[in-house]
Amino acid sequence: MPRAPSGFRGRFLTDFATRAAYSEGAGPYRIVPRAVAVPRDLNDLLAIVRHATKAGESLTPRGAGSGIPGNNIGRGIVVDLRHFATPLSAYAEGIANVGAGVAWRSLDRAAARRGLRLAPNPSSAFCTIGGMVATNAAGARSLKAGSIRRWVRGVEMVTADAEVGWFGRSTALRMRRKPTLAERAVLRADLTAVRRFQAGGSAELLAGRPEVAARFPRTRKNSSGYALDHYLESGDLLDLIIGSEGTLGIVTRAELTLEQVPVATATVLLALDDLGALPDVVSSLVGMDAAAVELLDRSFLALAAPHIPFSVHGIEVLLLADFERNADVAAQSAASEARDAVSVRCRYVETALTQQDRGRLWAIRHAASPALAALPASRRSLQIVEDGCVPVAALGRYLEGVRTAARHARVEIVAFGHAGDGHLHINALADTRQPDLTARLARLLEEVTALIIELHGTPSGEHGDGRLRAPLLERVYGSELVRLFGLVKRTFDPANILNPGVILPGDRADPTANLKVGPRAAPIPEEVESRLREIERSGAWGTAKTELA
Ligand SMILES: Cc1cc2nc3c(=O)[nH]c(=O)nc-3n(C[C@H](O)[C@H](O)[C@H](O)COP(=O)(O)OP(=O)(O)OC[C@H]3O[C@@H](n4cnc5c(N)ncnc54)[C@H](O)[C@@H]3O)c2cc1C
Repeated sequence: MPRAPSGFRGRFLTDFATRAAYSEGAGPYRIVPRAVAVPRDLNDLLAIVRHATKAGESLTPRGAGSGIPGNNIGRGIVVDLRHFATPLSAYAEGIANVGAGVAWRSLDRAAARRGLRLAPNPSSAFCTIGGMVATNAAGARSLKAGSIRRWVRGVEMVTADAEVGWFGRSTALRMRRKPTLAERAVLRADLTAVRRFQAGGSAELLAGRPEVAARFPRTRKNSSGYALDHYLESGDLLDLIIGSEGTLGIVTRAELTLEQVPVATATVLLALDDLGALPDVVSSLVGMDAAAVELLDRSFLALAAPHIPFSVHGIEVLLLADFERNADVAAQSAASEARDAVSVRCRYVETALTQQDRGRLWAIRHAASPALAALPASRRSLQIVEDGCVPVAALGRYLEGVRTAARHARVEIVAFGHAGDGHLHINALADTRQPDLTARLARLLEEVTALIIELHGTPSGEHGDGRLRAPLLERVYGSELVRLFGLVKRTFDPANILNPGVILPGDRADPTANLKVGPRAAPIPEEVESRLREIERSGAWGTAKTELA
């Protein structure tokens, strides 16, 4: 078992129960790490990185652990960043500077007291800002707000060379907040990783511009691969770091732009009984400047029916659209316009103008959690094709194709997501007693991946690649872009200590290996397993995993 590096003052845990508590994220995998480190401060973090390089040990940065595609678990040392949670300092002009371990929910509460908010709003309010930056996270409001990339002004990051630097937008003034004395002692301007990149990486990336233009998905969102497209546009290394899933460095702080909370919001609920109408209805709502257009498929409605206050019989999809405006009357008229424009294509339309009525409609979107919690122990919600995103015009074809693929694979699915972005979350509802479950899931993944490629989509709209999609990237992007991804990784992390196997696959990587279900799942103590199940059922991902042991 690895031992704590000398001078390390935080917790370094190697008992089986603690390691088991960190063996799962919110996705389908289980990998028991060799140790869990909970650094107290930057010096501890630097000590861990030095130790990992010396010992050839891998490190997996970890926030709340709500990441899905197996990007927050690993065989080496899991590094729990919960102490990097220095509370928000927000500036009058709407800039927030927070520790990477701060939960989105805490930031939202603190910002709301100043009439501000971070525009991207993941449903996983318990996730951390570090995790959001690392996955390029988004949420229902991403239709208008985009993913977090647009809102990040800069990050403080520990590199694989055990150096600390600030990676900012060249267009933004550097840190508004003055570094503390302790930070000034470690922050470096001339990072070895940057020098390596300038010497060996940047020219090749520039030469790859035509391939990037030809092969990158043309979707409204993308959290797959390293964001070479954004880097080539901005020239900011920050764009490679955002969405890099802990493979290029460990983010310790982030500076974010906040926006004013809008004065008024109106919500429209629309029920469609014809999938053919979906692209037109969604495009109309998007064209009317909706802030969010969410979709609940018939599979979702069937699962959540006991928690929905009306009959869902015959409905193909429900859409929920939000219109945010600067006055009540403007929000109301946006909702009425939307209603008038699309009601002819819908079986049922309802408008909500008060907070209470809006809450009632949005409660339908949130009915998934109690429904999933009620599933029997042998039926598990597994995310295998959960994050595909396609051009909005192809959304109907995508949903139809996924339903067909699920039939072929004989796997039940439940679908919901961000229709305005062409982005669907598809969970498999797996019967864990089936002896050929892994083969069924592999078939589902294979068919849905082929469909996404055919529709010029991306396998990940907001969750990242993790271990699940790393082996697919060559098919999605082609070998030349995967070579450039490898170049980015090597210039930042030549010894491959940071989250190996994530984004870039390891040897013989198999997306259906290391599942947390089935006879080949790694054994963990029963008590820890049942508490992990409880978190999964109740969505309590914010629970400190050290407490589970
Ligand atoms: C119920 C539920 C709903 C969800 N809804 C959404 C949603 O609406 N939108 C969305 O985008 N996602 C959603 N997710 C996925 C997940 O919440 C996001 O990916 C989130 O950004 C992960 O944050 P975390 O703090 O939990 O990170 P973790 O799960 O701990 O880590 C995720 C990745 O980030 C890396 N990482 C974490 N912290 C750091 C750091 N400080 N420095 C470097 N790397 C780091 C990890 O190594 C890993 O690769 C949902 C998940 C669940 C379970």
